[in-house]
Amino acid sequence: VRLETIPPSLISRFAEIVGEANAVTRADEQAGYLREWRDRYTGRTPVVLRPNSTEQVSRILTLAHEHGVGIVPQAGNTGLVGGQIPSMDGDQIVLSVERMTRVRDVDAVDGTILAEAGVTLAGVQDIAESIGRLFPLSMASEGSARVGGFLATNAGGTGVLAYGNARQQCLGLEVVLADGRVWNDLKRLKKDNSGYDLRDLMIGSEGTLGIITAAVLKTVTKPVDFATAIAAVPSIDAALALFHAAETAAGDTLTGFEFWTGDLQQIATAHMAGVRAPLDHSGPWFVLIEVSEQRKDGSARALLRDILDEAFSDGVVTDAAEAQSLAQRKDFWALRESFSEAQKHAGGSIKHDVSVPVAKVSSFLKAASEAVQRVCPGARPMPFGHLGDGNVHYNITQPPGMDKATFLALWEAMPRAVHDVVAQFDGSISAEHGIGQMKRDELVRYRCDVSMDIMRSIKRALDPKGILNPGKVL
Ligand SMILES: Cc1cc2nc3c(=O)[nH]c(=O)nc-3n(C[C@H](O)[C@H](O)[C@H](O)COP(=O)(O)OP(=O)(O)OC[C@H]3O[C@@H](n4cnc5c(N)ncnc54)[C@H](O)[C@@H]3O)c2cc1C
Repeated sequence: VRLETIPPSLISRFAEIVGEANAVTRADEQAGYLREWRDRYTGRTPVVLRPNSTEQVSRILTLAHEHGVGIVPQAGNTGLVGGQIPSMDGDQIVLSVERMTRVRDVDAVDGTILAEAGVTLAGVQDIAESIGRLFPLSMASEGSARVGGFLATNAGGTGVLAYGNARQQCLGLEVVLADGRVWNDLKRLKKDNSGYDLRDLMIGSEGTLGIITAAVLKTVTKPVDFATAIAAVPSIDAALALFHAAETAAGDTLTGFEFWTGDLQQIATAHMAGVRAPLDHSGPWFVLIEVSEQRKDGSARALLRDILDEAFSDGVVTDAAEAQSLAQRKDFWALRESFSEAQKHAGGSIKHDVSVPVAKVSSFLKAASEAVQRVCPGARPMPFGHLGDGNVHYNITQPPGMDKATFLALWEAMPRAVHDVVAQFDGSISAEHGIGQMKRDELVRYRCDVSMDIMRSIKRALDPKGILNPGKVL
C-alpha cells in the first residue's frame, strides 16, 4: 500500500489527541525513535505520538483509518528486525506506547499482573518478585523492552527452555484494531476453547494486526536455589550429548542451556567492561548450564555435580567452573548476555536468528560454515545461543583486515546462503526476533504458498486499508 503524504492540518488533529507535548515533531527529539539498536534501519516521520491511554490509541487509529495513514507501533525500540522503524518516505506516523506504564492490577493469588503496553520487561520482573514469584521471560534487552513489544514479537530469550516464550506468559490481551475498535480480552483463564484463539494470533504479529495496549501476564513459582556452571566442551556434538544427559537427569529443573564459541568469549572479555570468563581455556566451545530448584537443600548443586562428573568421565566436558555465589552466577550470565554487543568490537558482522531441530544443530553448523566460506572466504562464524531450543544466533564476523563496508554489502547474499541451509534442515529463518522489514522478502521464499495465503487473508480481514505497520512482515 502506498500511503499519501500527510497534510499539516491532519497532523494537528493527531497532535490534539495526545496534546502538543506528546506529539514530537522536532528532529532532535524524534531521533531516538527513528534509529534502532544496530543502526541498520532509520526512518522519517512527520510526528511521533505518545498516547497515555487505550482511549487515546483508539482515537488515533480511528482517525488514521479514516484518512488511510500508516501507523508504526513502537515500545522499547529494541527490536532487531526494523519492525518498529517507519519507512524513509516520511508518510507513516510512529505511535510510541512508552507512556502507557500503568499496572492496573496485581493478583498474588492468581499470580497475574495486568500491565499496560509501556511497562518494561524488567518492571514486570520486579512486580513478580514483589509478590514472591517469577516472571520467567529474560533477555539482555529487558531494561528497555516493553510489554507491547515483547508480546508483539513473541520474544524468547534464555528462559524458553523451561518456561516457553512470551506467548506462554500471557493469558489475556487488550488490543486496538485498525479501525479504532478496542478488543478487550483481558481474561485470566488457563483454559479457554471458545472459538479461534485470537490472543495467539495477535501475539507475534509485530504490530501488523492491532496495537496491544495491555496484557494479563502470568507468573510462575520462583525457584530459590540455583546451580550454574560454565563448561568447556570439545565439539558441538559433545555439547549436545551434555544437553541430552542434563535434560534426562534434571527434567524441568534444567532452566538454562546456552552455548558459544571460544572466539566470541575472547572478544567479549577483551572489550566489554566488567565481563569476565571463569575458565582460562580456549574451548573451542562453551556451554552455560543451570539447574533451578524450589527448595534450598543443596539438591540443585548435587544434581549439577552428578551431571558434570559423568560428562567428565565420558570426555564430553574438558573443564568446568561452578558458580560459588549468586554474584558469580550473575557474572556467568553477564558473560553470556554480552555477546551481541561484543561482536561490534570485531568489525562488521552479519547476523542470523535461526532455529533447527535440536538434534540437527551440529550438522547445521557444519553445513552453514561451508556455505559461508563459499560466499566470503575467511569470514568467521561466531554462533551462540539457546542450544536447548535449537536456536542459533548465527553471527558471522568479517575476515580480519577486510573493509567493513565491503563485508556488510554481503547482507543479502550471506543470509540467502545461510537460510537455504536452514531450510534444508527443516528450520526457521526467524527463531525469536520476528520478520519486521529485514526478513520480509525472505519469508516469501521459505514459507509455503498456503501459509502466505492464510497470512495475507488474515491481514486483509483485520486491516483492509493496510495502515498497521505498513511494509512489515508481509
Ligand atoms: C541486546 C539485545 C538482546 C536481545 N535479546 C533477545 C532475546 O534473547 N530474545 C528475543 O526474542 N529478542 C531479543 N532481542 C530483541 C528485542 O529485545 C525483542 O524483540 C523485544 O521483545 C522487543 O521489545 P520492544 O519493546 O523493544 O519492541 P520494539 O522494538 O519497540 O518493537 C518490536 C516490534 O513490535 C511492534 N510493537 C511494539 N509495540 C507494540 C504494541 N504495543 N502493539 C503492537 N505491536 C507493537 C513494533 O511495531 C515492532 O514490529 C534483543 C535485543 C537486544 C537489543
